[in-house]
Amino acid sequence: MVIKSLIIITLLVLIFNVFIVKSHDINILNEQEEAQQEPGLYRIFHNGDAESLHFLKSVVKATDYDHFRSANSYDAYLTDVQYNLINSLSGLKVIEIHEPHKNPKFNRETERVSPIMSTSGDIQYNAYPSHQELINFMLKIHKKYPTITKLYSIGKSSQGRDLLVMDISQNANEKRMVPYIKLIGNIHGDEVAGRQCLLYLIDHLCYSYTKGLDKDVKQILENTVVSILPSMNPDGYEAKKRYNGNNFDLNRNFPDKYTLFNNILTTQPETVAVMDWSKSRNYILGCSIHGGSLVVNYPYDTNKGLTDYPSGIESPSPDDNIFRRIALTYAMNNPKMFKSNEFFAGITNGANWYSLNGGMQDWNYDFTGNFEVTIEMSYRKTPLPRELPGHWYDNLPALKEFLLIPLNTGVYGTVLNTRGQPITSAKIHVEGIDHPIPCGEYFGDYYRLLDIGLFNLTATADKYKPQTKQVFLDTIARKELIFNLEDEDSKDHNDQGVYHK
Ligand SMILES: [Zn+2]
Repeated sequence: MVIKSLIIITLLVLIFNVFIVKSHDINILNEQEEAQQEPGLYRIFHNGDAESLHFLKSVVKATDYDHFRSANSYDAYLTDVQYNLINSLSGLKVIEIHEPHKNPKFNRETERVSPIMSTSGDIQYNAYPSHQELINFMLKIHKKYPTITKLYSIGKSSQGRDLLVMDISQNANEKRMVPYIKLIGNIHGDEVAGRQCLLYLIDHLCYSYTKGLDKDVKQILENTVVSILPSMNPDGYEAKKRYNGNNFDLNRNFPDKYTLFNNILTTQPETVAVMDWSKSRNYILGCSIHGGSLVVNYPYDTNKGLTDYPSGIESPSPDDNIFRRIALTYAMNNPKMFKSNEFFAGITNGANWYSLNGGMQDWNYDFTGNFEVTIEMSYRKTPLPRELPGHWYDNLPALKEFLLIPLNTGVYGTVLNTRGQPITSAKIHVEGIDHPIPCGEYFGDYYRLLDIGLFNLTATADKYKPQTKQVFLDTIARKELIFNLEDEDSKDHNDQGVYHK
């Protein structure tokens, strides 16, 4: 009751204040509105009791959660009005985090640095290119390496900026019977280390492969297709803020199967573009790179419809074992992440850290064959330009090991009919794991990521008889299994020569 009255009184005061302001100085009101449109990042300390949490929940919309820090604190984007309301309740303490977009150093013109160039000389490691400069860089790389790169736009941001993707592979302009992997940066406009590292990765993959400098890169380009979207939220990047041009958090904007958090009416152009692109190929592994912590976060992010304040509840997917291994592969190759004080071995289940609905990684797992994880690459969301080379060298070995995962993990092969033709609508099921994956539409190929163990795999397809095969996986290499499915109406022939009707 006390809290309710407090909210009503505060709202009345606010309405009164707005009225006074309006009658005196319209400029002040404009400033207030502007401040509300651009919320700042704050760390909220609470004592964990139900009353405080319900009050917080009533003030801070779920979509504004940023990072859950501990049982007694979390980060959130707050407008000035929300900040004042929360600060008014005893037992709650709020401190402002002076970044990301309030970090004056984010503006690359404000820091004087001697340029540190990549080995190829095509990109500067300690500077932030604008979105236009990013486009120019990708055009330049494509022109320089036309065979091993393919450049395309998957759509436009809400303010009309191109969402540019580069495919990198031995023969990037042909359909290939290899695993497809996608890497996405900058879904949050102010989390930029990933955007930068993906640009450096594009340069490194192309240059090292062409010059024969890196055996891992050679293996990656010969045996996979790597698709890179360095900036999913160029509007947010240009405005130095988390949200897109329509002030939506894109990592809360995807459909979510558990809570029916459907976002149908508010799905943003960037979200639609990424969903269409993700479904256009049979991606099997991917990551989305964020900033604000140092950890690999794996599905699920959602806590299956629990709508109360997130409280560190583990929400494993059916593929929890392999997701842990994927996350560990990355974290173990980034020593700072692996030695994290905050997360054991630098990895965490999403909901066990903090729960969110409408996230991109959960959508990928639930609605496509792609196993996506969320990588928090830097404690500072917007590192200083001079810190960028350090982030790159910390993450390059981890990024390469990540890209090698499909080549040394799980089972791969094709699903063919008895005439040796690929079956394009086939699925691969694994006994004990409720998560069938689709085969590639063109070659009927599949890449089922699995941890070590003994597995029964079944290939199924409409109008074909299912076929089951057993495989033992150790840590050394992936195994190949070819399935040949008989037509459903073909006569079933067993060893005794008996035909079944
Ligand atoms: Zn983020």
